[in-house]
Amino acid sequence: MAGARLEIDLEKITHNARTLVDRLTPRGISVTGVTKATLGSPEIARALLEGGVCELGDSRIENIENMRRAKVSQPMSLIRSPMPSQAKRVVTNVELSYNSELDTVRRLSCEASKLNRTHGVVLMVELGDLREGFMPADLVAATRTVIALPNIVFRGIGTNLACRSGTSPDAANMGELSRLATLLESTLDISIDTVSGGNSANLAWIFGGAPAGRINKLRLGEAILLGHETLYRRPIQGLHTDAITLVAEVIESKLKPTRPCGDIAQTAFGVRALATDCGKITQTLLALGIQDVDPDGLVPPPGTAIIGSTSDHLVITSAAGRASIGSEVRFELNYSALLRAMTSPFVARAMKSTAEIAVLRNTC
Ligand SMILES: *Cc1c(COP(=O)(O)O)cnc(C)c1O
Repeated sequence: MAGARLEIDLEKITHNARTLVDRLTPRGISVTGVTKATLGSPEIARALLEGGVCELGDSRIENIENMRRAKVSQPMSLIRSPMPSQAKRVVTNVELSYNSELDTVRRLSCEASKLNRTHGVVLMVELGDLREGFMPADLVAATRTVIALPNIVFRGIGTNLACRSGTSPDAANMGELSRLATLLESTLDISIDTVSGGNSANLAWIFGGAPAGRINKLRLGEAILLGHETLYRRPIQGLHTDAITLVAEVIESKLKPTRPCGDIAQTAFGVRALATDCGKITQTLLALGIQDVDPDGLVPPPGTAIIGSTSDHLVITSAAGRASIGSEVRFELNYSALLRAMTSPFVARAMKSTAEIAVLRNTC
């Protein structure tokens, strides 16, 4: 396969998932493998399941439907509060959704009744990051309402940190989630099976040796796919950080001045280019642009620097000098770059084995 593409090493993804599952199991925590950054790729979903995740989670019903169409039949959860307008699709395709509005849970109840099935509900709790969730003081009343709804099974509670505001999971907020789980059980005389503590940003907290308390699930996407934790984006020991790489093709490579000439106004994206004059350098154009990837999230190969980007071009310079036309350059990606590349119709995906990729790497 030629042209701009993501090369996805499914064995490395499975290894990353397996390693995290093996480290979390002794702590009493199981893993929801999050597929949203892969556009619900059935191949990647299967790689996660192979690595031992207990269920799959995605924020978009379209991705879940895509995996269901591809016959991925394991339990799945919708991890973004459902849109009421999609309630029927949610109840049809997933056994569990994470919710933060009672009106929506009522819609789910209604659709589940019509379909004569039950739907599991986890209620999200706001613990400081200021995205989704009930305020802790409102949780008991909300739960009381939910357990009374027909065809709804109240499964437990969850929280999400470090996404909107960067609030770090720590002993205080995780302790609060545990306390709320126990409070619900004692106040309402119920038992809950899910206390979902958060995402990849929770790994530093749990691997730092903190007691897990009541937390028995984490929803992990980025850490599995990219091999790092997400508070400081440090690699996690024993995980691959290059399970997914982006390959682009050289379409021009010439010696050019470093400073543009003429009267310099805005660029295509409004920002005025700052250029210092370093004489002439070899600049290479790749057929890859802002439409395909977030250029700021690309890690170029050693000896290579990214010096510009437009809608359809990435401008790089390399210590190796002129690149041959049609040759390829490989990048590692951060989450933002991965998300955009996975959703660009111009970027193909090549699922490969570790051995196949090793051979390709010797040529680009
Ligand atoms: C995206 C998301 C996750 C997974 O986050 P990662 O950083 O990829 O591990 C977990 N939970 C919710 C609610 C999310 O939106």
